[in-house]
Amino acid sequence: MSWDRLFIVWGYARPFFGHSGRIGPFTLPEMQTECLRVLSQELDIIPAGKFTAARKEGTQFLLEYRTEAGEMIVREFERVVVASGRRSNVLSMDIAKSGLKLDDRGLPVYNPQTMQCGNAPLYLTGDANEDLPLWHEAYAEGRIAGDNALIFPESNPAKRLVPLGIFFSDPQIAMVGKKYAELDPNKIVVGKALFANGPRHKIYDARDGQFSVFAEKESGRILGAEIFGKGAEHFAHYLSLAITHSMTVQNVLKAPFYHPCLEEVMKEALNQARFQLAK
Ligand SMILES: Cc1cc2nc3c(=O)[nH]c(=O)nc-3n(C[C@H](O)[C@H](O)[C@H](O)COP(=O)(O)OP(=O)(O)OC[C@H]3O[C@@H](n4cnc5c(N)ncnc54)[C@H](O)[C@@H]3O)c2cc1C
Repeated sequence: MSWDRLFIVWGYARPFFGHSGRIGPFTLPEMQTECLRVLSQELDIIPAGKFTAARKEGTQFLLEYRTEAGEMIVREFERVVVASGRRSNVLSMDIAKSGLKLDDRGLPVYNPQTMQCGNAPLYLTGDANEDLPLWHEAYAEGRIAGDNALIFPESNPAKRLVPLGIFFSDPQIAMVGKKYAELDPNKIVVGKALFANGPRHKIYDARDGQFSVFAEKESGRILGAEIFGKGAEHFAHYLSLAITHSMTVQNVLKAPFYHPCLEEVMKEALNQARFQLAK
């Protein structure tokens, strides 16, 4: 999705063919809806369907795709970009011969608190373990593995970072802490705010998007957020600090929010959560 802006800048005709119907990482259904609505303003997105054929014909690529509704799309393209993720090259190492216990992907089972594979003096970190293919996680995992390798055969389990992921789409997508789908809806409140109401967002005329923050009903503790809109990466960073230090909605609202700042959208969502917590 980070490619969307480039395709627009390059001026390519750019249908995006999905398969699952989901756009981006959002798990709160209305965030999915808002994301698809906004990105569809500039991109031709067909979110759900299946390729039935793909072949090269001369200098062109012929793609046949059946949409979820059963419509067949047959078109020729000059270029095709396939975004399908990447695999660990540990898989090409005949790792089964090591005697390590493997998971169903064929990768060694490791302890995410030490990065150690079983009791072996072997540590699996970063993209090689395929779990969190993010630069800051690779850095943290390398540190954990190094600290543990230095005291082998002892180990010192580390606390993992608060989950944080950014998609550099326009507007941005950010996920921090727990996703909505990982939480019990009966035990949380969801504070929401539309970017259209953000004072600074109005100045920038960047009105698309929604902020959804999840807080524990019992304690008011912030658990996570799904964010779509201008400045999303910075709000997620801010909340990652709050979640790391187990802060509540009320705690965070004690901090100043100057006017007009982008963060006023976050303040609005937190206030909405606070009202629900007070009931
Ligand atoms: C196009 C792209 C954009 C990305 N953008 C972002 C981003 O914006 N933000 C973000 O957080 N993450 C991003 N990532 C992911 C991030 O780059 C990786 O998660 C991170 O670099 C993983 O670090 P690593 O040390 O595990 O692996 P790498 O950085 O891939 O380092 C592994 C090194 O091991 C070497 N190597 C591999 N096999 C062998 C071997 N058999 N023997 C010796 N050496 C070997 C490789 O050459 C490489 O130098 C992006 C990744 C890609 C591909």
